[in-house]
Amino acid sequence: MPHTTSAIFGTMRSEVKIIELSARQQRIIAIVRDRGTVTGEHIAEELSLTRATLRSDLAILTMAGILDARPRVGYFYVGDQASNFGCEMIGKYLVKDYKSVPVVVQEHTTVYDAIVTMFLEDVGTLFVVREQGILIGVASRKDLLKVAIGQSDLHEVPISLAMTRMPNITTITLDASMYDAAKKLIETQVDSLPVVKPGPDQAVEVVGRVTKTTITRLFVELGSARTV
Ligand code: ADP
Repeated sequence: MPHTTSAIFGTMRSEVKIIELSARQQRIIAIVRDRGTVTGEHIAEELSLTRATLRSDLAILTMAGILDARPRVGYFYVGDQASNFGCEMIGKYLVKDYKSVPVVVQEHTTVYDAIVTMFLEDVGTLFVVREQGILIGVASRKDLLKVAIGQSDLHEVPISLAMTRMPNITTITLDASMYDAAKKLIETQVDSLPVVKPGPDQAVEVVGRVTKTTITRLFVELGSARTV
């Protein structure tokens, strides 16, 4: 990420301090980034500064994790690690390792039975499948409530009339990161994503689910791992 005017210092756990970078510090970053590795003398020369003047800037930039110094080699650019840290970290956690078991029903299941399944399985979203777990729809609590407040007989209406259908379903794959899954949940404003793998004839097979709860659980797991 390019630096503009600020750098983030991680200080104590949970405390993050943002400092403004001076124009000179930004020029130093630009020199080091362009050159690969460069000595303090070279930077001082290029900016017509004394080594003493430069020293405090280099100290700040190395403490911020923007530059690093190798003895007898010089300074090199490592980037804004503090702000990249969260992104890199969460990108390592994969859907295949955190997904939960999907709760599925067949397309001819009645809305009444679907509601019962939601209660029994304690889920807010059902995935509707045909043979071999091929995904054909998603039914949320509100989809079922809509039918329930209408005049229809819940024992007669099949869930296929209440669900959102393929191809209008946002899915996630096993190798995607939990960050990708969280982003999709937020962007599409839904509670649950079917985890899928390729099935026959461009269809997809449901092999799991990632919900807002799955993301929250991972978040808590990461938080508690830091305190032990
Ligand atoms: P609720 O409606 O209970 O608040 P959601 O926000 O998950 O639950 O669902 C909102 C709407 O989006 C519903 O009509 C549902 O069928 C649909 N929906 C749910 N999950 C998905 C998904 N992964 N892809 C596309 N549509 C979805």
